[in-house]
Amino acid sequence: MSRTTSRRRFLGSALAAGAAATFVRRPAIAQGAAPRVVVVGGGFAGATCARVLKKIDPGIAVTLVETERPFTACPFSNGVIAGLRDLTAQQFGYQKIADDGVAMATGTANLIDTQARSVTVGDGVRMPYDRLVLAPGIDIRWDALPGYNEAAADTMPHAWKAGEQTLLLRRQLEAMEDGGLVVMSAPANPFRCPPGPYERASLIAYYLKTRKPRSKLIVLDAKDAFSKQRLFQNAWAELYPGLLEWVSLSKGGNVNAVEVASKTLVTDFEKHKASVANVIPPQKAGRIAELAGVTDRTGWCPIDPVTFESKLVPGIHVVGDATIAGGMPKSAFTANAQAKVCAAALAKLLRGEAPAEPKLINTCYSLVAPDYGISIAGVYRPVNGQLTDVEGAGGVSPLDAPRATRNLEATFADAWFKTITHEVFG
Ligand SMILES: Cc1cc2nc3c(=O)[nH]c(=O)nc-3n(C[C@H](O)[C@H](O)[C@H](O)COP(=O)(O)OP(=O)(O)OC[C@H]3O[C@@H](n4cnc5c(N)ncnc54)[C@H](O)[C@@H]3O)c2cc1C
Repeated sequence: MSRTTSRRRFLGSALAAGAAATFVRRPAIAQGAAPRVVVVGGGFAGATCARVLKKIDPGIAVTLVETERPFTACPFSNGVIAGLRDLTAQQFGYQKIADDGVAMATGTANLIDTQARSVTVGDGVRMPYDRLVLAPGIDIRWDALPGYNEAAADTMPHAWKAGEQTLLLRRQLEAMEDGGLVVMSAPANPFRCPPGPYERASLIAYYLKTRKPRSKLIVLDAKDAFSKQRLFQNAWAELYPGLLEWVSLSKGGNVNAVEVASKTLVTDFEKHKASVANVIPPQKAGRIAELAGVTDRTGWCPIDPVTFESKLVPGIHVVGDATIAGGMPKSAFTANAQAKVCAAALAKLLRGEAPAEPKLINTCYSLVAPDYGISIAGVYRPVNGQLTDVEGAGGVSPLDAPRATRNLEATFADAWFKTITHEVFG
């Protein structure tokens, strides 16, 4: 059976069965033409989606649009900040993805015409699509914290997108005198990588303890609770007593302004003048999502949890950090899992079939010291249009585990990073 005949047959039977509106409301793809999928953003979500989709159905013309070469991964970038690894260990190219038949387009997608179904990249290359996947990750909300803007990030780095910002924070810590004060701020939910600020605090504390023991680290938090909290706090009491202080929201941790010239973080009660300041500001979906009209008032993208199609604009799917994914945290593990589900759904939709209901898994490892790992895992499924925790299916590392277990989890973390980056880019 030819591809066209088979597609027509699938469409016919799906229509007869009254299948989901998500594909019947679209005009059929021109007979004989390969369906076109453009994926914007070549991070954990977008690169996975493009590569997996091409593997599922080599007949689909898949294009991956990405601004940066190489890609710089955030997971394990806290290790770069602590001097435990080089930034080059975080960097990955796209050659293997291109070898698999994905067309690579270097540039920034900056315009989406949802009527004509096209994406404009750079200063004018127009790419038509039958379905579009947006995987732009996050952008910083530069308007959310008085005093903090793009110029301020040169002095008080956020390092929440890996690359130059990561190196800047590393260099500042290296240059700081022993006895200096490092001040970090962590934002309210939701944000990229819920345990990330606390892993960073841990590894900065490790650096200070081993290299600048008269120094101190204060973490100012806009929350009273955070991911893996008891595991982190128990480990801090054991490994970094007197060195790392966490200030919760109710104890006055919310940073409501910064004064860049003096590297000062301002809370409702106090001013903290830092030797090194790491501001992790509020975030939102990457800008192209806003331009495409797929963000809601929260700044994030509501999606259908079976297909990852936008609830606001048909024909556009969103995966990764940019989504509102119910209970699923914004992690690389999540982004990769969502992208696989989305790719499988896209292949079905383009054939006129109904996608299967998925179950998704997330696991997040954090290092509290180079040889001390902890983790959290969860399983999620669609319930009433939202991704919802499957009760009893997840959990965190035991609180009373011996050091050998923490040691083992640190090796699992390392193995996870090698596996996922190999799967996506290798
Ligand atoms: C310090 C830190 C530690 C972390 N540790 C972990 C961890 O241990 N485990 C874990 O699972 N997760 C971790 N994360 C979270 C993880 O990095 C993110 O959840 C993950 O990167 C999300 O993947 P994504 O594809 O949605 O976004 P990204 O990986 O950020 O990819 C988005 C890509 O889209 C590109 N892009 C954006 N807009 C456009 C456009 N208009 N045109 C072209 N390209 C565009 C960007 O250049 C970028 O390459 C950590 C994050 C941080 C900050």
